[in-house]
Amino acid sequence: MTATPWTNLHPGDLRIALPPVAPTPVQPALAAAHAAARDWARTPLSTRAACLRSAQAALRAESEPLAHLLALEIGKPLVEARGELAAVLAKFDLTLADAEAHLTTRCVTDGPHPAFVRQLARGPAAIIGPFNFPLHLPNGALLPHLAAGNPILFKPSPLGANIAARYAALMTPHFPPGVFQLVQGGADESLALCADPRVRAIVFTGSVAAGRAIARAVADDYSKQLALELGGKNAALVCADADLDLAARACADAFCLSAGQRCNATGRVLVAAPVADAFAERLLTALAAYQPGDPLDPATKLGPLTTAAAHERFANALRSPGGRWLLTGEALPLCGEAPGHYVRPAVRVWDDPAAAIASPLHAQEVFAPLLEIIVVRDDAEMVRLHEAVPFGLTASVFTRSQARFDAFATELRVGNLYANLPTTFSPSTLPFGGLGASGNGRPAGRGFIRYATDEQAVQVGVNSLS
Ligand code: NAD
Repeated sequence: MTATPWTNLHPGDLRIALPPVAPTPVQPALAAAHAAARDWARTPLSTRAACLRSAQAALRAESEPLAHLLALEIGKPLVEARGELAAVLAKFDLTLADAEAHLTTRCVTDGPHPAFVRQLARGPAAIIGPFNFPLHLPNGALLPHLAAGNPILFKPSPLGANIAARYAALMTPHFPPGVFQLVQGGADESLALCADPRVRAIVFTGSVAAGRAIARAVADDYSKQLALELGGKNAALVCADADLDLAARACADAFCLSAGQRCNATGRVLVAAPVADAFAERLLTALAAYQPGDPLDPATKLGPLTTAAAHERFANALRSPGGRWLLTGEALPLCGEAPGHYVRPAVRVWDDPAAAIASPLHAQEVFAPLLEIIVVRDDAEMVRLHEAVPFGLTASVFTRSQARFDAFATELRVGNLYANLPTTFSPSTLPFGGLGASGNGRPAGRGFIRYATDEQAVQVGVNSLS
């Protein structure tokens, strides 16, 4: 177990320390979730929905202080933190609509006996969250489980421990004891929750390495449901017929939002050779808006990276060999007077696709504002390069041609595909999830509730019951 309390510093001003956080003992939390499971599963959906509605109202009343604390702890620009809170609140409505549709009993009349199919609650669910969306992503996973009748154990990223504690303090009182629990800690607490036989479902959002560790830890218990939402190395495909202004703005946003710390960030641009220079010129213009600034200032679009380790990794990436730098980027120690993990975006161009593929970072998620532009000859080469990474989360095709988009759509192995939109454009109204190394294909967005229940088929012998 994580032995001692820890303290997070404000990534935008390392002189500001947040309150220390202590790890949560895991065993009592597991016992409480187990004890609560039977009654919560038997609680009518209308009552469970009322609990969710009152929790939503409590969060809504506190959404501005929550956004502020999120920006303070993670360093996410306040404007994005407010967007995250809006997504958190909207998710309640979407989840309850999904619950109404999914948690029903379906009659089957074309079999040998009268029959129906119903949804059973699974039991306690462990929700393991990442730092970059410390509320939105766990919230999106835990609401369907709560609506479906499963107690949840929410283990946030230790980097977002204070914002998670504030959110949990607002949520917990609206549910019976043991139904909503916060478990603070790191990898040890995460693995202890996931491996426990009382936990019947896991939603993990985070890195490939941690996802693999969890998959290994639960491999023997194949009835435990494991949903993995992992990383990406997402590409924008800019075709010769693209609207280049639109493509440049979309790519600038999609690699600089959250300082590149998004699973769906654009890490690669595959651009057709005839328009490569014109695209690059427009990209530089669009990037002028992304100047490093204080994340608590509502005007800031580019905040700091969250950790010192990420700052150092970015600095190392800027020293990596190959290509030519269109924008050299920088890992800055200060912004004004404030010491923090500040960055300037970097853009590198590869005129030789073979060299790009051979470079060490090509198939790695950098999770910082570094964009690799690879100049390609034709659409077939675009597809080939797109598929040259193990990930399959999001991809955007920039073209004016429906036929061309359709042709790409049949080839690109991603969970979320866009035409003429940023790779980060992932509204909660749609399913979300990755293929290949990006996850095990279970969507994290709309419709996730169908993974929160077990289906039971019931048959009744004709005239056998009175
Ligand atoms: P991380 O893997 O370091 O941590 C995520 C969670 O796992 C944390 O709660 C952490 O405490 C826990 N953890 C860490 N190591 C573990 C281990 N060995 N065993 C069990 N649990 C462990 O990830 P992060 O740095 O917080 O988040 C960034 C990563 O998350 C990126 O790879 C990003 O692409 C990914 N992500 C994916 C999605 C998606 O929907 N696909 C969304 C957001 C973030």
